[in-house]
Amino acid sequence: MSKRMMKAAVLAGPQNIEIKQLPVPEMQPGEMEIDISAIGVCGSDIHMWKTGKGWNPAIKENFVMGHEFCGVVANPGNSNFKVGDRVVYWANMYCGKCDMCRAGKEQLCREVAGQNYIGFVRNGGYAEKFVWKASNAYKLPDTVSDTAAGLIDPLMVAYHAVRVSGMKLHDKVLVVGSGIIGQLTGGLVKKAGCSYLALAKRNDRKLGLAKKIGDFDAYFDSSIPDAGEKMSEAVGGGFDIVFECVGTEESIAASIDAVKPGGTIVTVGNSIDPTIKISLNKIVLHEIKFIGSVSCTRTEFEETIDLIASGMLDADKYVTDVMPLDELQHAFERLTSSTDPVVKIVVKP
Ligand SMILES: [Zn+2]
Ligand SMILES: [Zn+2]
Repeated sequence: MSKRMMKAAVLAGPQNIEIKQLPVPEMQPGEMEIDISAIGVCGSDIHMWKTGKGWNPAIKENFVMGHEFCGVVANPGNSNFKVGDRVVYWANMYCGKCDMCRAGKEQLCREVAGQNYIGFVRNGGYAEKFVWKASNAYKLPDTVSDTAAGLIDPLMVAYHAVRVSGMKLHDKVLVVGSGIIGQLTGGLVKKAGCSYLALAKRNDRKLGLAKKIGDFDAYFDSSIPDAGEKMSEAVGGGFDIVFECVGTEESIAASIDAVKPGGTIVTVGNSIDPTIKISLNKIVLHEIKFIGSVSCTRTEFEETIDLIASGMLDADKYVTDVMPLDELQHAFERLTSSTDPVVKIVVKP
């Protein structure tokens, strides 16, 4: 019997996506087969695209990225799904057995130890089909479009960050970073009732979308000297909460200078350099709460779907471009261009 084949966008080398035909993965017990409908292109995909490598050295060839996807069930296996069900897939891998999983903190699962994503350590969704555990799939309500479902993954990151921040009504909030996570965080914080919301950015490339949506009260240039102190002065002594969505030494330093004494910094941005310098004295002497935030819990993933389904957040308006999977290479070139105003691309096979 000849093998069933599918179209897939393979990371063939640094800054090189090749469209290829790959065998459809064999379904194992507990797994399902999904026909991919739409998939968001993520900032962390860009890092892998630049280096030409995924996170798993055991995958030597035909590595397929992609973790922000939805689709239609083609084969439900022995799960409760039916053929034709629309589903969104949670790319967060977890064991379900360790102390973190049992405490409902699946994003901190000890078994997968942070190496926790489909599309990073195993093949993901930039393809016509995806096969893996049915337990990571969730039924998609009719009120969530395929395009909006491509936003659930970054939205869950923003949602978890806002929840761990402990933000209260009337807080003054600064978001550092104008990428999709920063913009979605701003959107949620606005809904959560902040009294003043500012965005710190290095350039104006992605501001068209932010200004069109109109949630931010002010925009600051974080590339100028003493940017953090200037932002603090502009709100009369610092922000209650700062969401750091970049992950560089400069952006962390600006966040520490911009937060008020006793305030909270939630670090969402993942540093490419794992050991960056921070001013510990400022954190200690100003009693700054420094909170890391990664992915979200399984429950929060379901709640994120509901944020869109219930109409609380209009996710479609954050998608600036929809492109065919065949043009994934071009999508990465646009996302890394210094002039293209694109913020979020969703591709469709
Ligand atoms: Zn992502
Ligand atoms: Zn676990």
